[in-house]
Amino acid sequence: MSWENNVRKVEPYVAGEQPKQKDIIKLNTNECPYPPAPGVAECAKQMCTDNLRLYPDMNAQKLVDALASYYHVKPEQVFVGVGSDDVLAMSFLTFFNSDKPILFPDITYSFYDVWAELFRIPYHQCPLDEAFQIRKEDYMVPNGGVILANPNAPTGVPESMEVLEEIIRANSDVVVIIDEAYVDFGGESVLPLLEKYDNLLVVQTFSKSRAMAGMRIGFAIGNEKLIGYLQDAKFSFNSYTINMPTIEMGVEAVKDDAYFKEITGKIVATRERVKKEMTQLGFTFTDSKTNFLFATHKNVPAQQIFAALKENGIYVRYWNKPRIDNYLRITIGTDEQMDAMLHFLRQYLK
Ligand SMILES: *Cc1c(COP(=O)(O)O)cnc(C)c1O
Repeated sequence: MSWENNVRKVEPYVAGEQPKQKDIIKLNTNECPYPPAPGVAECAKQMCTDNLRLYPDMNAQKLVDALASYYHVKPEQVFVGVGSDDVLAMSFLTFFNSDKPILFPDITYSFYDVWAELFRIPYHQCPLDEAFQIRKEDYMVPNGGVILANPNAPTGVPESMEVLEEIIRANSDVVVIIDEAYVDFGGESVLPLLEKYDNLLVVQTFSKSRAMAGMRIGFAIGNEKLIGYLQDAKFSFNSYTINMPTIEMGVEAVKDDAYFKEITGKIVATRERVKKEMTQLGFTFTDSKTNFLFATHKNVPAQQIFAALKENGIYVRYWNKPRIDNYLRITIGTDEQMDAMLHFLRQYLK
């Protein structure tokens, strides 16, 4: 016998490549092509002189308060974590404790099954329909909890408020998590439903729409009791996870709503323009409400286009997985970056 028999063995999440070269066009991990709000940089300078020698506030209260005020909820309804990955992992640990399986789609954020495996949570993946929409009946069966990304990744497809509300209502004995990582690019948030349902947890992130993937800020909003349980789990694990610069810069980002609306608006406009131009090149798409396009070409296999783009310094995302192996997920960059990609594609597909 070896000690290795007693090791927790897991297959980790595989993130998109973070290449070292600087001269590439990076459209593979849904980062924002614009810098964060100007106040964030100012804040970084201040930090080093005044504050770094002190421990941060364990509750990240200043950031919690800023988010509570922005989203018109009580501070007791907000939980902040090290990216929404941290918030989601903590939520799986805290809320998914049934013998019945948790439910999520077969095509969705590929961290969900990784966490379920890690925490030994039984799970069932419900197949999306041909249009990559969920079938609501799949979520109306006995279960240990539900997690849905809305809009979904990597498809970009949003679900209607009506369908989501029905699922939340039908599952009052478990927690339903809605992962709204991409909601700021034209989707509709379920936040207003918090008034009606105490089993709903809404998770969002600063990584995409607030241009701060490197800072690692994610947050959850739910009723006070739910958030209380999340905090208990977090403080049983590691108290000082959110560092001081993160708290201060996060507050600056939330304060600058005009800038936030400006960059998300630009990305939506670029997305729609690129979609039109790529349509003329023979691509078709889901109706993405995110900062990426999920594209397939009528003649040329996705894997081939992916490789050709990469060879030319343009990184997009491709999965060799059933049902999506003829699709590319293309993050919306600046107009210049997208024009460079379009220029290449026009030559390549001719
Ligand atoms: C990007 C993403 C996240 C995680 O983002 P963080 O950088 O950890 O905040 C969570 N869910 C979905 C669906 C995502 O696409």
